[in-house]
Amino acid sequence: SEMLVLDGLTKAYNRGKPGEVTVLRGATLSVGTGEVVALVAPSGAGKSTLLHIAGLLDTPDEGRVAIGGMAMEGLRDRARTEARRREVGFIYQFHHLLPEFTALENVVLPQLANGVARREAEARARDLLGRVGVGPREGHRPAALSGGEQQRVAFCRALANAPRLLLADEPTGNLDPGTSDQVFGVLMDLVRGTGLSALIATHNLELAARMDRVVRLDAGRVV
Ligand code: ADP
Ligand code: ADP
Repeated sequence: SEMLVLDGLTKAYNRGKPGEVTVLRGATLSVGTGEVVALVAPSGAGKSTLLHIAGLLDTPDEGRVAIGGMAMEGLRDRARTEARRREVGFIYQFHHLLPEFTALENVVLPQLANGVARREAEARARDLLGRVGVGPREGHRPAALSGGEQQRVAFCRALANAPRLLLADEPTGNLDPGTSDQVFGVLMDLVRGTGLSALIATHNLELAARMDRVVRLDAGRVV
């Protein structure tokens, strides 16, 4: 069965105005349950636009999105927001951790916001941080962590509320090549270990080759 279905997405910015740019022209893609798909495209091709639509942060002009077999079109804003919180984890190129909070708190807070009790939230955060090798650094704020460690914590935060779908936009693009390779391996182990379905944008073809399937975004279509 499919965890994510994107069907015939079109998207233009500044429609009907000077500076109109058509980014997606009928993009169709599905990600199976437990499948990890690489989305490869040059900068400016529309990867972020496609990921934002898949993650319910933006809406297409035309086309359909279904997550976990549930169509998203008819939903009201509030139901979409709930679906996003429940089903989708996001990872960006930059970690976006809260600077005033420790690594542990950065993974605990989204769970508290989701109604999880503190004890349970801390136990889950420690389990996740342990899996990515940041357990001993749980009490440090982001500024005291290396770039690779910061990004590992961001992976744990994305998985804190146990989403079924992970969307990642150049998840190791901010790191030097050696660190990027290593941290990418950590991400893959985490994804495989939790049975997540994932769509991961990268322009690193070696990293893409480590996923189940590689798709390319070309002239607004997925090929
Ligand atoms: P990628 O992630 O592949 O670099 P994006 O989806 O960010 O591509 O952007 C695709 C194109 O759409 C680019 O030409 C970008 O400048 C344009 N674009 C993205 N967001 C906006 C926006 N909010 N308003 C106008 N143009 C945008
Ligand atoms: P990019 O690096 O692809 O441009 P950003 O991290 O700047 O992505 O975020 C893109 C958009 O997504 C922004 O409008 C931001 O507010 C929104 N966003 C980022 N993370 C979340 C999230 N977890 N929940 C809701 N919106 C988010």
